[in-house]
Amino acid sequence: AKRLGRNQINVYAGAPDDYDPERLALENALRQALRDEQLELHYQPQVDLAQGRIVGVEALLRWQHPTLGRIPPDRFIPIAEETGLIVPIGDWVLRRAIEQAADWQRAGLPPVRVAVNLSARQLLQPDLARRIEQMLASAGLDPRLLGVEVTESMLIANFDQAVQHLEALRALGVEISLDDFGTGYSSLSYLRRLPVDLIKIDRSLVPDVTAPADDVSITRAIITMAHQLRMRVLAEGVECEGQAALLASHQCDQIQGYWCSAAVPAAALEAMLRDSRDS
Ligand code: C2E
Ligand code: CA
Ligand code: CA
Ligand code: CA
Repeated sequence: AKRLGRNQINVYAGAPDDYDPERLALENALRQALRDEQLELHYQPQVDLAQGRIVGVEALLRWQHPTLGRIPPDRFIPIAEETGLIVPIGDWVLRRAIEQAADWQRAGLPPVRVAVNLSARQLLQPDLARRIEQMLASAGLDPRLLGVEVTESMLIANFDQAVQHLEALRALGVEISLDDFGTGYSSLSYLRRLPVDLIKIDRSLVPDVTAPADDVSITRAIITMAHQLRMRVLAEGVECEGQAALLASHQCDQIQGYWCSAAVPAAALEAMLRDSRDS
C-alpha cells in the first residue's frame, strides 16, 4: 500500500496482501480503540415522507485515532469481521445505542427508533437475541425504539439461526431492516421467508430526477413488491429535493441521506429533535 509520509498509514489502501503490516497495525490499533474509548456513534436521521418528521436514526460507528485521525468504517469493519473483534465492538455499539435511545426518551424528546447495523459474526452468536433483550431491560428501553439492520449476504452462513434471532427480536417489538437491498444476490423467493419490517433500498438503486425511466421503474417495482409483502421501504443516499419528491410520488415510506442530514454526533441530533418538536 501507498505511504503517505513518515509514520503515516494510508487507511484508504486497497485489498489486503497475504502479509500486510499496515493491516496488522490497524488490527492492534482497533483493539486499543475499544479499550480506550476511541469509538463513537454518530446518528443519521431517517425521515418519514408522509409525516415529514424524523422517525428513526441509524447509528454509525466513527473511529477517531489519536495519530492516524479518522478511519472510515469501510476500512476497519472488514478487519473487525475477519479477526472476530466485531463481536465485542458490536456489543459495544448495541449497548451504547440502546443507552442513548433511553436517554433521549427520558429527556422527553419525540420518540425516535435507533437502528444498529449487525454483522454476520454477531448473528452466529447463539445468545444474540437474549443478550439484546437483557440490554433493553437494563437500559429500560421500549424494544420498539430499537431497530437492527442486516443484509441478505450475512444471513447465508447459518440461515435458520439468523432467522430465529430475527424472529425473537421481532417478537419483542424490535424493527428488522433489510439493508443494502438491490446489491449482491438478492433473491426474491428468499424475501418471503425473512421476518423483515423495512427494506432499505441501496443508494445505487435510488434514482435522481435525471434518471432514465427504466431506473425509476425498478425503484417503483421494489416499493410495490415490499408493500404487497407488508413491508415498509426506505431509500438510502437521498441527496437532493428532487429525489425526495420523486420517491414520495412513488409511495416510498422513508428517506435517509445527505439531503436530510449526514450522520451527526448525539448532541447535534438532539438539537434537531428539539427543533422539530418546538416548531
Ligand atoms: P451502511 O449501513 O450502508 O450505511 C450507510 C452509509 O452511507 C454510511 O457510511 C453513511 O454515512 C453513508 N451515507 C449516508 N447518506 C448518504 C448520502 O446521501 N450519500 C452518500 N454517498 N452516502 C451516504 P459510513 O458511515 O461510512 O458507513 C459505511 C458502512 O460501515 C455502513 O454502510 C455499514 O455497513 C458499516 N457500519 C457502520 N457502522 C457500523 C456498525 O456499528 N456495525 C457494523 N457491523 N457495521 C457498521
Ligand atoms: Ca445500514
Ligand atoms: Ca445501507
Ligand atoms: Ca453498506
